[in-house]
Amino acid sequence: MSEEQLFNNVLNKNAEFFDNLTGGLLIFVGILFLILIAALVVIIIGEVKLFKKAGKPGWAAIVPFYSTYVLVEIAGLNWWYFLIAISGTIVSLLGIDGLGTVTLLAARAANFFIFYNLGKKFKKDPTTYGILGLFFYGIIAAILGYSKNMQYDSSVEVSPNGPIDDKKGNTTKTAEPERFCLGCGKKLKPGVQFCENCGKKVE
Ligand SMILES: [Zn+2]
Repeated sequence: MSEEQLFNNVLNKNAEFFDNLTGGLLIFVGILFLILIAALVVIIIGEVKLFKKAGKPGWAAIVPFYSTYVLVEIAGLNWWYFLIAISGTIVSLLGIDGLGTVTLLAARAANFFIFYNLGKKFKKDPTTYGILGLFFYGIIAAILGYSKNMQYDSSVEVSPNGPIDDKKGNTTKTAEPERFCLGCGKKLKPGVQFCENCGKKVE
């Protein structure tokens, strides 16, 4: 084998190697992308379920901004928590410099209060849910939606000041939890086995 032949041989081998590598990487990225999309769909369906549990229309969970507004309602908080929660997005959309960090922190705080009170409404430890909601809000919302054991109780009083208000001795009402149909979202009368509106069995 001449030196030139040897050189060409090595070149071809290298080209083949990189072709395979690129192909493999593309497949890997593709699979990763599909997994991400699947996870996103699973989370969105969970959020739709959460909205229905709370007696809100499921489609509201899919609409950007409006879904945050409704989530604030579900948490039982004032509408202006919504403004704080979206402040970071608004500021960056408007391209206002210097407010990024402030609005980001404010939005994080609003997120804590939303999930703190969602925890209360679902009879879970509010602080844990508040903190988890800071980092994994989509996943936490989906878990609340999917779980058969956790039901929404609109009669639970919220604490706009979070743990501080609760330390002051605010008691939470537990009498007669309101229930909503998982099929159509209509409010259920106490003690019924089937939804009067769509006939779905009450779980
Ligand atoms: Zn129904």
